[in-house]
Amino acid sequence: MCVLFIVRHRAFYQLEPVLSVVGRKVDEVVEHDVKTCPVCVKAKEKITEKQFVSRRKTLLQNKLIEDKIQRHLVCKNSLDLIGELAASLPKPSDDPQEIWRRLLNS
Ligand SMILES: [Zn+2]
Repeated sequence: MCVLFIVRHRAFYQLEPVLSVVGRKVDEVVEHDVKTCPVCVKAKEKITEKQFVSRRKTLLQNKLIEDKIQRHLVCKNSLDLIGELAASLPKPSDDPQEIWRRLLNS
């Protein structure tokens, strides 16, 4: 769809001296087609690229979070937690003074 549009972006200002030379009005109303205008096409491409990068980034971050959750579930199951707890408890062969020191400092 074509619309009548006063061109305000850079392409128009680049044309401005040319239009002045041929004696036309500087703020002339020109036909503007968003689909063929190079400035608009380039802006649209930039937006599309940014959206693509943003979507890919979100997907990768979600995958990273999912991997972390899976790793956590594998490493921190209840049996492993009991094992870690048992390993941290004092042994009967430990020095009682050392056991008291650890207990009071924790
Ligand atoms: Zn344009």
